[in-house]
Amino acid sequence: MRNGSDDYRSQGQRRKLVELLRNKGISDQRVLQAIGSIPRHLFIDDTALHAAAYEDIPFPIGCGQTISQPYTVAYQTELLQVTKGMKVLEIGTGSGYQTAVLATMGARVFSIERHRPLHIRSRKRLEELGLRARAYYGDGYKGLTAHAPFDRILVTCGAPHLPQALVDQLAPAGRLVIPVGEGDVQRMLLVTKNAQGIVHQEDKGSFRFVPMLGEKENG
Ligand code: SAH
Repeated sequence: MRNGSDDYRSQGQRRKLVELLRNKGISDQRVLQAIGSIPRHLFIDDTALHAAAYEDIPFPIGCGQTISQPYTVAYQTELLQVTKGMKVLEIGTGSGYQTAVLATMGARVFSIERHRPLHIRSRKRLEELGLRARAYYGDGYKGLTAHAPFDRILVTCGAPHLPQALVDQLAPAGRLVIPVGEGDVQRMLLVTKNAQGIVHQEDKGSFRFVPMLGEKENG
């Protein structure tokens, strides 16, 4: 990754953030390494917020959306169990930060964003940082049929229900992590598909996400 606008101060703040995430229970070394190396401040447009970019809090990124708090990013990524070379579909590119975490871990990332301005901005940002990911503008409910199946699928917005298209696009032995719930608070579901294609769900706790938007909503 090229990180020309990174500096020692940010690097120091990231080391502290990694320590905090470790204390909160994140143990996947590769997830912690990725978070330790990615300049999160560069994913936040409003430079007035940069001083707080390594606090464990979400920030607005425009279009009424937010970059998730680092603990949530770490928790979802840890649940996903990503290894190098895996094909990963992300729903909700947003700032591109989570995309960057997955790409840094060596995943082949396909990411879909429903708001065009965010899609354009995150695609440019990932390119500038030298991170390889394929970013699409579209509706995540449908997944990405042309590139299915995926070894892993990660949804970073709160879905009212588990979209069947995403379950269908999950490869055998695949894992899908998705916050599901109608209100402000969602349950983090880990959906696994075994080698025979049998699907199993586990509840991994409660989280707060911006809602997943339907086809006709403008958010
Ligand atoms: N992963 C992002 C989190 C952004 S918040 C990051 O690291 O910054 C969730 C994102 O999901 C928002 O950008 C929102 O616009 C997007 N979104 C909501 N509904 C969607 C849908 N149906 N398809 C694709 N993206 C969607």
